[in-house]
Amino acid sequence: MKSIGDNCGVFGIVKETDCVEDIYRGLDFLQHRGQQFCGIATCDGGRIYLITHYGQVGNTFTPHELENFKGNMGIGHVSLKERQPMMWQGAVGEIAVAFSGNIINSEALLTEMKDRGEAFYHGLDIEIISKLIMQEKNVVSGVSMLAEKIKGSYSLVVLTQDGIYAARDVYGFRPLMLGEGRGSFVVSSESRAVQSMGINRSRDVRPGEIVLITKEGFDTKQQLKSPRRAHCAFEWAYTASMDSKIEGLYVQEARNNLGRALAERDIAEGGVQADLVAPVPLSGIGHALGYHMISGLPYQEVFLYNRYADRSYTQLTQEDRDRVAKKKLSVLEYAIRDKRIVLCDDSIVRGTQIKEKVRELKNTGAKEVHVRIACPPLMYPCNFGISTRTHEELLARRFLANGNITSLDQFTALEIWVAEKIGADSVKYNSLEAFVEALKIPKASLCLKCWDGNGPMGSGLDI
Ligand code: SF4
Repeated sequence: MKSIGDNCGVFGIVKETDCVEDIYRGLDFLQHRGQQFCGIATCDGGRIYLITHYGQVGNTFTPHELENFKGNMGIGHVSLKERQPMMWQGAVGEIAVAFSGNIINSEALLTEMKDRGEAFYHGLDIEIISKLIMQEKNVVSGVSMLAEKIKGSYSLVVLTQDGIYAARDVYGFRPLMLGEGRGSFVVSSESRAVQSMGINRSRDVRPGEIVLITKEGFDTKQQLKSPRRAHCAFEWAYTASMDSKIEGLYVQEARNNLGRALAERDIAEGGVQADLVAPVPLSGIGHALGYHMISGLPYQEVFLYNRYADRSYTQLTQEDRDRVAKKKLSVLEYAIRDKRIVLCDDSIVRGTQIKEKVRELKNTGAKEVHVRIACPPLMYPCNFGISTRTHEELLARRFLANGNITSLDQFTALEIWVAEKIGADSVKYNSLEAFVEALKIPKASLCLKCWDGNGPMGSGLDI
């Protein structure tokens, strides 16, 4: 099992005129999904143009490079881990492929394919996906073959001479949506990239759906049977941007609801004596606002967010994450001196960052810090494309070695233990039941494996 998964975003567009500026801007709006690599591929009907970079879109692509892209259709990718898109020649013609997700059985697939004589550059997931697609006589059968071969998650785009194929694995782990307007047809990991172009979000790509996008619009080429949906619940709590909408649910609405649930629990348990409620920016903002709406506590920013710092969760190593976390936020002393603070955040992974935030607030003069966490305690690492830690690194798992919370007393004991570990006056999480209720999406349609260990794909690979 990989301890760190991929975390990335895809974008694609077909329009009447040159599209590279649109891809560039679309990727800029998906940059929060991965900052290590970025890439663009366009097609002018004759050939495919491709450039990838190490770094962020806005810092790496030069005006000269953008001018040299040709074509009115293309795809783009931002990534934590791999350079994408990748370009290939085969029986299906010249194609460029990019995906968001993670292949759990990549080692087995690599071995099988190498035994058959296939050669690989680095054995990356994107190479495996591309080669599986190219083994078939056309892109649709190649993409549908992925559902049989791959254990894991993929939301992918394939640029061809005929248009862009967009597809989602049969569980729909990672988001992928369609938008249209102003002569453009767009596919994107998140709706914010579409909204930024002033066009409408049309719908989500369905789990197991393979769509061809051309100048005529969206054409579903195949709909594979989906055993069940398993949309990543973490998208609403943390990963996605607050201005996006996934599976009909606004991310902001979900975060407000999660904050409301935390406040309702506090009220039901006698209330917390505090002067203000504050977020750990950025993902804590929606949660803190929801808490404020129910509790009536004044909402106050207590950290100033450094917009020039990289997002810590998408850094590959813990050292990088800690380094970025340190330079990301500075304390607003005026707001917190002698105050009792309810501090809202999305989740606690290792606990090092929230511990640092509590320490900074107290060292700067806060009287009390009560931490409220939107997600239930994280007990299991992700196999489906999000950069969570190994079992051993997860703070809550260090308290409960088997990962199973079996009673309210145990849940409360965990919260008291975590509060001690991070130096907070109290810690409360949403329970899994409250978390699911706040999302307003049927439990059976969500992946909740981070919390209950029950991945939708059966046992044997920790899935
Ligand atoms: S394991 Fe967690 S992070 Fe991964 S897809 Fe499931 S809910 Fe999302």
